[in-house]
Amino acid sequence: MPDTIVNIAIDGPVGAGKSTVADEVARRLNILHLDTGAMYRALALRVLALGIDPRDEATVSGLCADAALRVEVAFENGMQRTLLNDEDVSGLIRTQEAGLAASTISRYRPVREWLVARQRQIACTQSMVLDGRDIGTVVLPDAKVKVYLTATPEERARRRHQQLLEAGQVAVYQDVLEQLKTRDLQDQTRAVDPLRPARGAVMLDTTHLSFEQTVQTILDLVALA
Ligand code: C5P
Repeated sequence: MPDTIVNIAIDGPVGAGKSTVADEVARRLNILHLDTGAMYRALALRVLALGIDPRDEATVSGLCADAALRVEVAFENGMQRTLLNDEDVSGLIRTQEAGLAASTISRYRPVREWLVARQRQIACTQSMVLDGRDIGTVVLPDAKVKVYLTATPEERARRRHQQLLEAGQVAVYQDVLEQLKTRDLQDQTRAVDPLRPARGAVMLDTTHLSFEQTVQTILDLVALA
């Protein structure tokens, strides 16, 4: 195990660019990036595949007690692969349906405790950039650098819409904006670990920042920490 483990927490709402920014920061620091949202999406995929209504808290929570269910990550050439019972679901989780279901099931305490425990295990063994909604507040409150990345809902919807189109999916901007607002509300108002800036987090509004400016700002924070 390395002597010094450096964890960088990047939180923020959907479409703020956390994942791509975290990827690039990790690449330049030569460390790994853990996308924690992918783990919620993988569990959501299982819920949907089993025909369970994501709003059925008891049944969804019960799944987490099933020792046969495994949500894991593996890294290949620095790239995260997300595994659901050993099946690589990295591509399958990237739909709006999986994202919305992930947002719903992430409200349940047993789901959060189950995934947070796994995330802490992964992060304590190596230096990483972690992105999510609760990294600085819950998963790693002692992270060396904590950033809260955001942008206006319209700008975030524009970016997400573009990503979906580039991934070959059919998407209407207005629908993306509405879903984003729904997910913002779900994430910010849930009773368990709501999305909010962590104590000591640096607020970074990227509405008018380029990708490079955003990455560089975080690298500067890491250098100063
Ligand atoms: O980041 P991404 O959009 O892939 O995350 C999907 C959903 O998972 C989010 O809307 C959020 O509700 C949930 N999530 C969470 N905590 C995290 C990461 C994601 O609650 N650390």
